[in-house]
Amino acid sequence: MQKRLLLFLGAPGSGKGTLAQRCVKELDYEQLSTGNLFREHVVRGSEIGRDIDLALKSGRLIDDSIVTSMVTEWLNQNPMKERIILDGYPRTLVQAETFNNFVSSGYEHKPAVVWLKISEKAVIDRLTLRLTCSKQGCQVVYSLAEGSGCQPCNADFCDLCESPLIRRSDDEIEAIEKRLKLYGIHERQLLDFYHKHEYEIIDLNAVQPVASIFDEFKRRVR
Ligand SMILES: [Zn+2]
Repeated sequence: MQKRLLLFLGAPGSGKGTLAQRCVKELDYEQLSTGNLFREHVVRGSEIGRDIDLALKSGRLIDDSIVTSMVTEWLNQNPMKERIILDGYPRTLVQAETFNNFVSSGYEHKPAVVWLKISEKAVIDRLTLRLTCSKQGCQVVYSLAEGSGCQPCNADFCDLCESPLIRRSDDEIEAIEKRLKLYGIHERQLLDFYHKHEYEIIDLNAVQPVASIFDEFKRRVR
């Protein structure tokens, strides 16, 4: 089996997290999330953990260098893992640069980028078509998108508990648009960087149901 280190790249709402979960469940990937690593280090009280704790308590963002040393430390400590997904890292150009120094100085896995390609408009459409059951403890998510396979029988009520379905407010949509704009800037910078450094980039069409994205993934990533 070829060793795989996949850098998952995709906007919020692109289905990146769901795809990663399926890869873990069905294809034996290990998913490394920086959020979980942060918490682990803080709980363990490691040196990195103390830095993170300090940053969080003083309301600062966590340094790119801290994030990178945390990720590379984990990779060095887990050489037996054959298939790894980095989800949400590298997130910035600075992180990509320091990470590239690490992989080009003798790390065994060759990184490849899995890019879930989706337009800002498609993400917004997906989110505006999303309905959630209003009953606490149910909160089933539906989608009015055609072919999504998650349409409710009746657009106003939950199939399971018959409570009213609610959709996101315009304010929420506006906040999401802002986040997507910022994300788009990072994404372009990262893709430029990966091109320049000749990373393999596997672009998947994220404007399709997750099952189809997963099929495409299995065909293209060996
Ligand atoms: Zn319900």
